[in-house]
Amino acid sequence: MSEIDQMLAANGEWLTEFPGGLPVAPARKVAVVACMDSRMPLFGLLGLAVGDAHVIRNAGGVVTEDTLRSLTISQHLLGTRSVVLVHHTDCGLQKTTDADLADLVERTTGHRPPWTAQAFTDVDADVRESIRLIRSTPYLLSTEVRGTVYDVGTGELREAV
Ligand SMILES: [Zn+2]
Repeated sequence: MSEIDQMLAANGEWLTEFPGGLPVAPARKVAVVACMDSRMPLFGLLGLAVGDAHVIRNAGGVVTEDTLRSLTISQHLLGTRSVVLVHHTDCGLQKTTDADLADLVERTTGHRPPWTAQAFTDVDADVRESIRLIRSTPYLLSTEVRGTVYDVGTGELREAV
């Protein structure tokens, strides 16, 4: 059975715990911007329940045009106001550079991507930059923007410094 077939089959189990219909606006008025890392179960590690928060994920949890698009919709249409960033230790984006990834893609496919990977070395500095980008976006309505770093080795979440 393929991985996707297994997921479709697993939905039967989910139906037994499905909490029922909920409002589209997140109950806790929070948007989470996080890395796509497979070791970060965000609802569990942040104490969130279904319906509590928007979760916007990408490689690195970086603030891109599309992150800002999603945050704008989250805030203007669906009432969120707090933004929490969740970056983490041992991130894939710390294991490459923008040039190395572009070179790899070009060698493999013959095409150089038009975007940069937004690789980083210092996770706290990257969180600070993401906070700065969100706070300086004039069309957002955020009342609180904070950043965190999750340790994938221990499960501990700390506020970025
Ligand atoms: Zn990551």
